[in-house]
Amino acid sequence: MTRQPGQFAFTVILVLTGLLASTAWSGTAVIQPDDYAKANFETPKSITPYTLPENWPTQFDRAPVDLAPKNADSFVVVLGTGNPIPNPYRNGPALAVVANDYPYFIDAGEGIWRSIAEAVLWQGDKLQDAFAINKLKYLFITHLHEDHTIGIPSFILNPYKFHATTDKVIFGPPGTRQMVEHILAAWTQDVHEMMTSHKWTAAGSGATATDVVDQGLIFSDENVKVEAFKTKHGSFEHSLAFRVTTPDRVFAFGGDGIYSKGLVEAARDADILFMEAVTEEGIPYAPWGGDTVEQKKQTIFSYHIPPRELIRVKRESKVKSIVLIHEQYYSKPEDYRREALLDEINRAGMEGPIYSSIDGDIY
Ligand SMILES: [Zn+2]
Ligand SMILES: [Zn+2]
Repeated sequence: MTRQPGQFAFTVILVLTGLLASTAWSGTAVIQPDDYAKANFETPKSITPYTLPENWPTQFDRAPVDLAPKNADSFVVVLGTGNPIPNPYRNGPALAVVANDYPYFIDAGEGIWRSIAEAVLWQGDKLQDAFAINKLKYLFITHLHEDHTIGIPSFILNPYKFHATTDKVIFGPPGTRQMVEHILAAWTQDVHEMMTSHKWTAAGSGATATDVVDQGLIFSDENVKVEAFKTKHGSFEHSLAFRVTTPDRVFAFGGDGIYSKGLVEAARDADILFMEAVTEEGIPYAPWGGDTVEQKKQTIFSYHIPPRELIRVKRESKVKSIVLIHEQYYSKPEDYRREALLDEINRAGMEGPIYSSIDGDIY
């Protein structure tokens, strides 16, 4: 057989491409730097809430992972890891405990309905049954900041649009009942239209909400036991952490907030604490909190937990591992890296495993 030099080069390129592709997709499924999201990316010339460096696609260098123990009957799906910054790669804060194939949602940030789809698309069969639309029912809200609650109308009404008939059951700090009543009132015309056009009943368009006033057991069924603990977050009178016990694992959800006895109790000896965190070393670059570094520290550390306090929570609670969500790291734009806050926490002396999560991860 005769072969032209051009053909030979073509074959070599094909083989090399094949090798690169198999390296990229074996094991951890890391997306390579020539990923589509980066192809047309240009560094913004000015920094606004839309163009903050944490929003740049260059910060997202891996696909979602599944780090839950093999054969675990329960695990947590990280649906949204964002905060109020409009990061297009992070949906608003939302998580789901899946126990015996049934989901229990924690917080409903912006984009929760799409986050569920994103997680299903990445994680496949593991989530298809668990997130069946008629199983979307239980939601536990840590506090009433908009970034944790703005997905509540979506959680109630988007499944209804696909004819789910399960009314929602929602728990949260005092004020949750009122919020849910107002949400239901605000969308009455939409529900009415669906009922008129499709002859549907109201089943699935409703929700009952309970204000959690006291600490302790707030919910239990055959899959989970949910306990609430009081935390400290800005000037909120009520904010909560949740401890979810399943038949095989214990998960704690700190919501937003600084060190508190409640947070430590929620996380005591748990398998994983899902927690926010904020940089201490980057505070001078924070775009909020005051004019001076001292003012910024005072304001920001009344809302969000810096590395040294997170380490104190870890030591006192003896929680086995931590998964970061809702991260806030500030720096000069050219110095920003997605894992910079994780590095700062480790440098500050964190003992034991800690992960920086992205939307769609399973732990
Ligand atoms: Zn928040
Ligand atoms: Zn908050």
